[in-house]
Amino acid sequence: LAPCAVAVVTGANRGIGFEAARLLARHGLHVVLTSRDAAKGQDAAARILTEAPDEAGVSLEWRQLDLADSASVEAFAAWAVETHGGIHVLVNNAGVNFNKGADNSVEFAEQVIQTNYYGTKRMIDAMIPLMKPSPYGARIVNVSSRLGRVNGRRNRIGDVSLRDRLLNDDCLSEQLIDEMITKFLEQVKQGTWSSNQWPQMYTDYSISKLAVNAYTRLMGRRLSDRPEGQKIYINCFCPGWVKTAMTGWEGNISAEEGADTGVWLALLPQEPSTNGKFFAERREISF
Ligand code: NDP
Repeated sequence: LAPCAVAVVTGANRGIGFEAARLLARHGLHVVLTSRDAAKGQDAAARILTEAPDEAGVSLEWRQLDLADSASVEAFAAWAVETHGGIHVLVNNAGVNFNKGADNSVEFAEQVIQTNYYGTKRMIDAMIPLMKPSPYGARIVNVSSRLGRVNGRRNRIGDVSLRDRLLNDDCLSEQLIDEMITKFLEQVKQGTWSSNQWPQMYTDYSISKLAVNAYTRLMGRRLSDRPEGQKIYINCFCPGWVKTAMTGWEGNISAEEGADTGVWLALLPQEPSTNGKFFAERREISF
């Protein structure tokens, strides 16, 4: 990447985002660690800076960013242009989950979709115009989940036609994703969602990540014909089952291990180019 490449990580005050910020800084990028809560984010940034050995030359700063709040995203974008002239890397990590298992949090479904999907989309749309052209390309990495796989064996959408359209490049569109979400949220409000063939596990969270995956694929296609020097690569990944607050510290890997594939994707060389793909454990997996 370009010298002094600027990397932004959302929801980086803890968990996988914190580790992604720490590791990207260790790789020599200037990291903007963002959080919605000032005190938590400043504390996290201070921890990374004080724990890094002097010779590591870690360069990192904190900035407020709540991706569910469009005013906060707009203010962040203006600051990024004014302070850094743009950014090179965006790690869309922030997310929420209120599901416990085979349930759908009717109370929180809207918040989950608004944060995980529309918040991530808002960041992508706001950052693309200010991603700095460089000979190495710029990178967007979306933290997603295997729970959002269209054709996951155990947790998929029952509607075969919708599954086919989501996987067909000729049918995939923002409208298709939005229609799916609107229909789901309507059924949640009407109390009919459970009989209507949505994923049976972590339902609203799974739909939010399915939408993130689909938008990643869509944007990968849209961004693929940018001219040399202005390339932007966008991919998503599943970190695995990670011991963080989100899982109640259950899981089988650490937050640092969970961040690994995301950091790897952020630092991939330009060739062979990878755009609009889904990864886990540094390998491409199917949507
Ligand atoms: P954590 O709950 O530890 O971290 C989530 C982070 O997102 C927190 O920093 C939280 O901030 C932040 N956040 C939530 N809402 C917003 C918002 N509106 N604006 C800005 N920041 C926000 O979870 P993880 O580290 O486990 O999760 C990170 C990502 O990994 C998520 O996208 C999650 O869905 C994904 N993931 C996690 C898995 C796991 O096993 N842990 C598995 C698959 C995917 P605050 O502290 O203020 O709440």
